[in-house]
Formats: sequence, structure tokens, C-alpha cells
Amino acid sequence: MRVAIAGAGLAGLSCAKYLTDLGYTPIVLESRDVLGGLVAAWKDKDGDWYETGLHVFFGAYPNMLQLFKELEISDRLQWKQHTMIFNQPEKPGTYSRFDFPNLPAPFNGIAAILRNNDMLSWGEKIELAKGLVPAMLRGQKYVDSTDRFTFSEWLKQQGVGDDVEQGIFIAAAKSLNFIDPDEISALVLLTALNKFLQQKNGSQVAFLDGSPTERLCQPMVDHITARGGEVKTNAPLKEILLNEDGSVKGFLIRGLDGKSDEVVTADLYVSAMPVDVMKVMLPQKWKQNEFFQKLDGLEGVPVINIHLWFDRKLTDIDNLLFSRSKLLSVYADMSNTCKEYANPDRSMLELVFAPAKDWINKSEEEILKATLVELETLFPQHFGGENPAKLLKHHVVKTPHSVYTATPGCQKYRPSQVTPILNFYLAGSYTMQPFLGSMEGAVLSGKLTAQAINAQAHLEAKTSSKPTQTLQPATNAATA
Ligand SMILES: Cc1cc2nc3c(=O)[nH]c(=O)nc-3n(C[C@H](O)[C@H](O)[C@H](O)COP(=O)(O)OP(=O)(O)OC[C@H]3O[C@@H](n4cnc5c(N)ncnc54)[C@H](O)[C@@H]3O)c2cc1C
Repeated sequence: MRVAIAGAGLAGLSCAKYLTDLGYTPIVLESRDVLGGLVAAWKDKDGDWYETGLHVFFGAYPNMLQLFKELEISDRLQWKQHTMIFNQPEKPGTYSRFDFPNLPAPFNGIAAILRNNDMLSWGEKIELAKGLVPAMLRGQKYVDSTDRFTFSEWLKQQGVGDDVEQGIFIAAAKSLNFIDPDEISALVLLTALNKFLQQKNGSQVAFLDGSPTERLCQPMVDHITARGGEVKTNAPLKEILLNEDGSVKGFLIRGLDGKSDEVVTADLYVSAMPVDVMKVMLPQKWKQNEFFQKLDGLEGVPVINIHLWFDRKLTDIDNLLFSRSKLLSVYADMSNTCKEYANPDRSMLELVFAPAKDWINKSEEEILKATLVELETLFPQHFGGENPAKLLKHHVVKTPHSVYTATPGCQKYRPSQVTPILNFYLAGSYTMQPFLGSMEGAVLSGKLTAQAINAQAHLEAKTSSKPTQTLQPATNAATA
């Protein structure tokens, strides 16, 4: 059975990978000349990589880790020391750490918090524990009910003061959804804390050993094509063509470079495009349907990713860092954290600039200038004095619509992978799955779509008088 999938981000590629494992023949159609969507990366003229986003993998990503295993590339994940490192704005150039000892969860997390005395006073630790522990014990059902509140509102209800919010949770909110705690849904932070604290290595991070396009997306493509599937780049979906009954007749693909448009037909169709594109692409006939109308409640959040190459080493820290500065979110010295980007003499900082809504339309020069001002407080020892660090080159990648903006009330707009159109499915980290707008969410959504397609095919085979199609069993069930 042939399945056409629009979009070769992690969701589209994961969907195609799991479909091939089930004996289907997917054809993935990607609009750009690069794989990966939000994990896409490019090589510049010097051979240096730059990326859409600084990406880390967490121990609490079961489907992603399973995918690495299945592709036999687990050795490409470079696991870092289990610690969380924050800059201290009040003491420029210094760091505060939450070190997770080798204890079972949640005791390692509790010990990490109790042993940190720079960022939280004992009074604040007790305040925070009183708010968070009951939320964790009440389980996911309670966490889901907190989608009514921003995280700031929720903290206030729990009696947690502004200092704790400023100290820890601005950094956490910006790293999870590129917005501040007074905008982000409480559900997002509480879901992440649940997943991170309930597993021993849940919050431990790994960096990929090279660019996500080459080191993660390409092995997925190889897996798909080795089993009869296809992945085409430069193949933008222009229109979803419908039959009289509203089902999909074909994907109209825009011809590039003077080529004419082409219709791709299949037995089933999947959109693994971003929600913002899917909304624009909705056929007129589907717009009356409440299922599709709900997509209007979702919108991608703007974010900017910055790469700075310096003439010297600014830090030897080999881990993710939380800047706790106004304009920047998380960052890393990729010359330490990533094997392929390694350089013993010079730093390459990759920094996430967020919230970006007031900056996304500004010029690269303005963004760069503002970033360098913040770096002066992060690395005062390298930017003051007579011989300040020299910026050798930079790349700025703007994404006006990235993952869905997870403000309060958004959960109800996230669609299932199965749609009311019998031969049309959705995949993408914005679709409903418990890992929010993440790489794990994207991979899981693609897997869920493949499983839904397979379940539907089995059902139809059972109820029809035709002979049953033989399908290989799923290699593993989605771990939600
Ligand atoms: C700056 C940044 C940092 C991040 N950091 C992390 C992190 O550290 N850890 C983590 O887990 N997650 C992180 N994420 C989130 C993660 O990257 C995403 O959740 C995930 O990659 C989304 O995958 P997707 O396949 O759902 O969507 P996308 O990656 O958006 O894929 C959609 C694909 O559809 C294609 N497309 C669009 N229009 C068309 C069309 N007309 N026809 C055909 N194809 C089309 C796009 O080009 C794209 O390839 C980060 C994201 C950003 C932006």
C-alpha cells in the first residue's frame, strides 16, 4: 500500500520509517532542498555547520532513543554529565549547578535541588517543594487540568514567590517553548518536570555528534529507501486535491525551476507539515469541519538561532547552559559538546534567542549586537580588558513559526493523528502526544500515525470480503 507524506521533518520521516517496517511503501515529499524541518542544518562555504536550532536529546525520550537503537546509531548520542548549569546574572561569569547524584528518581532530583545553595534559599526550596510535590503526586490528570493557567499564575496559586520564578522558571519556560512563564501554559512546565523527575536519567542531555540532517535524518532516509520507500526534496505540496466525497484524490506538487506541476497519487495521505502550513493548505470543503477548524487555535512561535565563532576558547564546559539573560535562552559551546564541530582552540557558541516576537523582523546586525551585549555579562573575562575576544564570523537563522505556541488552553486544539477524512492523516509534534513540541513528540507522532494507518487497514481487511493483506507486526509499540 502506497502512502504519500508531505513534509520530511522528524515526524514525516518517522512516519515513513515505521510504515516501511509495517510493509507499506511511503513516498515523502519535502518542499525544501534540505531534510529535517526544524532540525535542518546547512554547511557554509568554510565547511562549518549551522542549524535551525540548538538541539539536545533527553534521557526521558523513549521513542527517540528506541529509534536510534533501531537505526543502529545510538553511538552518535554524546551523553553529558547529569547536571543542569545556570549562569548567575548577579555574579557575571559564574555558574550555578544542579548536580544529579547516582540515586534512583526522584531522590537524585531532590538531592540536586537541596544541594544547590546559590539559586534557592532554604525558604525558597521549601516553598517550591510545597507547590511542586503535590502536583507531581497527583499525576498527569491533574497536570492536564492546569492548562487553564499560565505557569506564573499557577506558581502564585501555590504560594511560590517571584524570586523563584525569576531565578529558575524564566530559563525553563524559554528553553521549552521560547516564551516566558507569564505566557506559557502551566501544563508544559509541569509535564516536563514530571517526565524529568520520575526517571533517573530523565533530565540528562545528549548532543548529537554532528549535524541532525546527516547524522539523524539521513539514516532514516536510508532505512526508508532500502525498504522500497522514497524521499524527495524540492517537492512542495501546492494543493490537496479532493474527490467528490471530500476524500483525498492526490497531492498536487509544485514544479520548480520551470518544471510543470505534478500530481502524486497514493492509497493514503499524510500531512507532516507544520500546523501553520496545514492551515493555509486546508481544502475549502474541509473548512466547515470542526476538527480542522480547531487548528486555528494553534500557531508556531518565533525563535532565532545564533552561531558565533570566536578567536579563542570562552569556556571549556561540555554541556547545555541556561543563560538566565533577558534575550537569550539556552546555549552551548559546540566546540566542546559536538564531535564534528570540535575545536580545542576556538569556541563556537550556538545560542537560542527567545522570546523572539519583538526581534524576528529586526536585522541580523541588530540581533547580533544585542546578543554580544548579553555575552559581555556571560563572559566578562573575555570581553573586557585590552584584548577582548574577537568574533570571527556568525550565522543567524530566524524561524518565524516554529513549534506550536503552548499558551493556556492550547491542548484542546491539538488534533489527533486520525482525521475525519478516511484516507488522510496528520503527523507533527503539534498533533496530540504527551511530549509537547519536541523532537520526541515529532518522532512519536509519526509512529502513532503509522500505527493508526496499520490499525485502520487491518480493520478494513477484517470487515471486507477481500483477502486480508499480510502486514508485518509493529516492531514496537509507541511508549507514550
Ligand atoms: C530553535 C529550536 C530549538 C529546539 N530545541 C529542541 C531541543 O533541544 N529538543 C527537542 O526535543 N526539540 C527541540 N526543538 C523542537 C523540535 O525541533 C521540533 O519539535 C521538531 O523538530 C518538529 O518536527 P516536525 O516534523 O513535527 O515539524 P517540522 O520540523 O516543522 O517539519 C515539517 C516539514 O514540512 C515541510 N513543509 C512545509 N511546507 C511544506 C509543503 N508545502 N510541502 C512539503 N513539505 C512542506 C517543512 O519544510 C519541514 O521539513 C527545537 C526547535 C527549535 C526551532
